[in-house]
Amino acid sequence: MKTLIRNPLLVTMNEQNEVVDEGAIVIDGNRIAYCGPAQWTPDGPFEKTIDARRMIAMPGMVNAHCHSPANLVRGMMPSKPLEIWRAYYRASLRDMREDDFYASALLGGMEMLKNGATTVLDHFAGSAACRFMGAGAAIQAMRDLGLRHVAALTVTDKSYEDTIPLGQTDARLNDEIKRMSASEAKTTQAWLDECEEFIETFHAPEKLTTACPGPSAVQRCTDELLKGCAEMSRKRNLPLHLHLAETKTQQVQGNGIYGHSLLRHLDSLGIVDANLSCAHSIWIEDKDVELFAKHGATPVHNPASNLRIGSGLAKVKEFLAAGVQVGLGTDGAASNDGQNMFDAARLVSLIHNHAGSDFNQWITPTQALAMATRNGARAFGLDAGVIAVGKLADVVLLRRDTPAYRPLNDVVNQIVFCENGSNVDTVIVNGAVVVEGGRLTQVDELEVLRLADEARARLEPSMQRELAAARTMEPALAEMYFRMFDKGA
Ligand SMILES: [Zn+2]
Repeated sequence: MKTLIRNPLLVTMNEQNEVVDEGAIVIDGNRIAYCGPAQWTPDGPFEKTIDARRMIAMPGMVNAHCHSPANLVRGMMPSKPLEIWRAYYRASLRDMREDDFYASALLGGMEMLKNGATTVLDHFAGSAACRFMGAGAAIQAMRDLGLRHVAALTVTDKSYEDTIPLGQTDARLNDEIKRMSASEAKTTQAWLDECEEFIETFHAPEKLTTACPGPSAVQRCTDELLKGCAEMSRKRNLPLHLHLAETKTQQVQGNGIYGHSLLRHLDSLGIVDANLSCAHSIWIEDKDVELFAKHGATPVHNPASNLRIGSGLAKVKEFLAAGVQVGLGTDGAASNDGQNMFDAARLVSLIHNHAGSDFNQWITPTQALAMATRNGARAFGLDAGVIAVGKLADVVLLRRDTPAYRPLNDVVNQIVFCENGSNVDTVIVNGAVVVEGGRLTQVDELEVLRLADEARARLEPSMQRELAAARTMEPALAEMYFRMFDKGA
């Protein structure tokens, strides 16, 4: 099927960041067959023509890090450091089952699509009681929506207390600590087998799914597990995704276990490569920036989450100065709490501009938009994130007769600084229109909301019980936090 998008203001986000005032895009099947000036549009016939004279066409954005189960608990978690926050978050997931994971992924996916993201990396950790922790239900939700996704199955084979430098803990805490470890109870080989089977079962680019291993974090995995996952990815030409150095506690723990930084440890295992993407990458050394650059690996910046739970500011300016291609994500809705990539692009272009720092290194809107589009696609080996011939047809059309774009002074600056998603009109993923007139085409939006409410109501009793149990951990985790920063609690 051939589709013509007629006369948009075309923001290609190609390497030259070309903008075409009166452009045209021809989509043939799931690929872009033409993009450029309208007057050179190849002849039809076209099965579908979209009149985009009053629209801006841009590549669909790539949300390079999130956790789909978190959508049901948005707005619920306290703004506290990751280690405390995580105890609550993990507790809130404990009784979720397939229907809940489905509803949660549907809700987050709907928000992303309606706000111009066409691909998401779902670093999925669910419930040990479900097959593949429940990831299959999340994948089904994203397929139903028509949202392209990289499903990275979270694996971790160390028990909880071995992954964080807790001090002397009260005996009464031990039960809760044991429960935190419950999902990590599998052996290394069992996790590797599960990952292999997960990929066999779900990896299907034609159904929009890239499946890959997603080690939870360096310090939460044995070397054997990390190497096994990396080998699996390399053999099958898949991404490898993990959390890296999100907090100072993790940095201290990493130095304690390995004697050097977490990334240097990964490098010593030979797994820092172009297919590796590392969420956060905040508490790292200057040498780590060089390692990212040398191997073409991708740090994924999650500005809203990092601010929400006070993790710190990633060295985005240093990365860019070293030629590192940084990806951008929302992170899960438990630490953001929205799933809007325009919000992420705006934040990254604002929060790194500090008085007194070298303003020549401040993030430009074009750099922010590149992070939100082509950098994420590149990190996952996807032929997307740019409007160019031969690329996957993932395209977003924004209405331009709105205050955000009138007067139209600089389209890229205005996408980054003025857009909040409310002007998204049409979203095309893999050649299919999945949002039209701002509404989902494949799924009933009211039904998504109903399913989410229903799941959340079902979970209420167990959630309150589990959150109360998690609260018992807070003093020990708070002590650890202050100890990391050499401050008394
Ligand atoms: Zn995360």
